[in-house]
Amino acid sequence: MADNLTSDVHDVVIIGSGPAGYTAAIYASRANLEPVMFTSSVQAGGELMNTTDVENFPGFPDGIMGPELMGHLEAQARKFGTDVQYEDVVEVDLQAEPKRITLANGSKHYARSVIIATGSQYRELGLPGESALTGKGVSWCATCDGFFFRDQPLAVVGGGDSAMEEALFLTKFASQVFVIHRRDELRASQIMADRALANEKISFIWDSAVEAIKGQDKVESLDIRNLKTGEVNTLDVNGVFIAIGSDPRTDLVKDALDIDATDGTIKVQEPSTATNIPGVFAAGDVVDGKYRQAITAAGMGAKAAIDVEDYLAANP
Ligand code: FAD
Repeated sequence: MADNLTSDVHDVVIIGSGPAGYTAAIYASRANLEPVMFTSSVQAGGELMNTTDVENFPGFPDGIMGPELMGHLEAQARKFGTDVQYEDVVEVDLQAEPKRITLANGSKHYARSVIIATGSQYRELGLPGESALTGKGVSWCATCDGFFFRDQPLAVVGGGDSAMEEALFLTKFASQVFVIHRRDELRASQIMADRALANEKISFIWDSAVEAIKGQDKVESLDIRNLKTGEVNTLDVNGVFIAIGSDPRTDLVKDALDIDATDGTIKVQEPSTATNIPGVFAAGDVVDGKYRQAITAAGMGAKAAIDVEDYLAANP
């Protein structure tokens, strides 16, 4: 970059506007770093924009709607001076000094440090009824939504560790949990499989796939095809938890940053949020293959902003 553009170099650019990105923005702007945040034009506010009641984010004893919570976080970040731009980042050069961020509109931005907070995309089944009934019985998060289904029959789709975790967690609330799996044995680790198989509230529907999620205003039943016999049966449940994996959004950075081979998350030097490139930090679900909660993402966002502050102080 030409020297005469040096004054345009930001201290920190934040990519992504979920709980991780906004919390990083609140901390960075209160530290006078004048952060610039690119939110995405498609899903500004992150995954909580797709949900209704959030009852487990501290500070809201009566719960709060997901979009309202994200509105609060954005207002708080703006109040302290974050420059929030509803733009998509399409390319980054993180090795360059300063680092270069290119937007979909073609403009280029430069920064001494970057926080990647691009989140993760839950895999969907791609079925009729799935998107219309999301938040009305279709869920990707037992920790978030299990509580709403006290004494009701539920289904979990998947056969890996996260599906077993979801099923076991849901037994605390549900009258019964049906695990629907495409194969006749689980992919989950032995210990998780043993726990689920031994739990008398969990029944397994093997060699089967969900074909449709049905219900008027909320989930009422599933059509389930036995993949060996072709037979289709109806299962009456009030909720279905989809646990077939999620894909951390690393497209922008996967050639530059170290990525975990097992779950596709960005590797950070824990307990910090530093990646393998100096000045590049990552926070939230894009680095988290396990907890994937708004509060854990927010916590990592706070850490990332503090790590940026330390990095900038050490590299004036
Ligand atoms: P995200 O919230 O995913 O935000 C990432 C943001 O980055 C998105 O806005 C995305 O568009 C943006 N982005 C990605 N790429 C780019 C790019 N190239 N340029 C610009 N922007 C980009 N958790 C709870 O704690 N409680 C709940 O009740 C709860 N309910 C949930 C309900 C649903 C339906 C879902 C799907 C999740 C729920 N979760 C809940 C989980 C919670 O939403 C996530 O753990 C949390 O949002 C992760 O935050 P994040 O900041 O890491 O990422």
